[in-house]
Amino acid sequence: MLCEETRCDRCISKSVLGDYSINPYIGCQHQCAYCYVPKITKNLDWKSKVKVKTNLHVTLAKELTNPRIKKGSSFFLSSLTDPYQPIESKYGLTSDALQQLFANGMKAIIQTKSPLVLKDLNLLKYNTKNVQVGFTALGLDGSVKDALEPNAPSVDSRIKAMAYLIDRGIYVFAFLGPVIPGWTDVDLEYLLTELRDIGVKELSVDKLRFRPGLKKELTEVMGNFFHGDLEYESQVAYAKVVKKAREFSKENGILFAKPFSY
Ligand code: SF4
Repeated sequence: MLCEETRCDRCISKSVLGDYSINPYIGCQHQCAYCYVPKITKNLDWKSKVKVKTNLHVTLAKELTNPRIKKGSSFFLSSLTDPYQPIESKYGLTSDALQQLFANGMKAIIQTKSPLVLKDLNLLKYNTKNVQVGFTALGLDGSVKDALEPNAPSVDSRIKAMAYLIDRGIYVFAFLGPVIPGWTDVDLEYLLTELRDIGVKELSVDKLRFRPGLKKELTEVMGNFFHGDLEYESQVAYAKVVKKAREFSKENGILFAKPFSY
């Protein structure tokens, strides 16, 4: 995947996932087949090029001086990319952003598929009251994962990273989204049990969102393990997963977050 350095004039956006969001990168090396970001951003390079906002640190510092951004505001990293995709190990933009946010009294909600977040363990440990780390975990079958999330770390490695963070006092939530029929609904009981056993405090679930063109692409990729009407079956699977995850959370003292409505 190509990498291109770029500059940004602004880096903070309003968000429904927190008060604000920050996206250090444009494009995502994880290249998930169900990712609808290329569709909503109309970025044709999404799966072939990642752009690195090399001046993010300076832009963020400037924007954080805006008095309208109150101390204690929550920042979601990241709404349109994975903040710990592999290139983060070279550029460290997410680490820089977190340092600035915490230094300015802000909160961070991180969502990733990567144990690379552990490189910021010290930073997270010193800011446990101001951070939550979410991991996407959709199913335990590795062959399905390889088809749908070809360049993302294994689900097993994510669960280990979650456990590691939890053991060090960091609030960790699991994100079961988008629910994939034939994967998430099949492994659900095992997945929920694993998440409970490592001490996950919160679960949230999201549906598969069919942006134009995505259904056809996804149906092809899923051909080896799923046969049926993807749109209909994904609704059935989503209802099943929400019901089960809600009941399981109640029985096990886990917070079940309201499903996303955007
Ligand atoms: S990790 Fe998230 S942003 Fe990256 S390709 Fe997958 S779904 Fe898209």
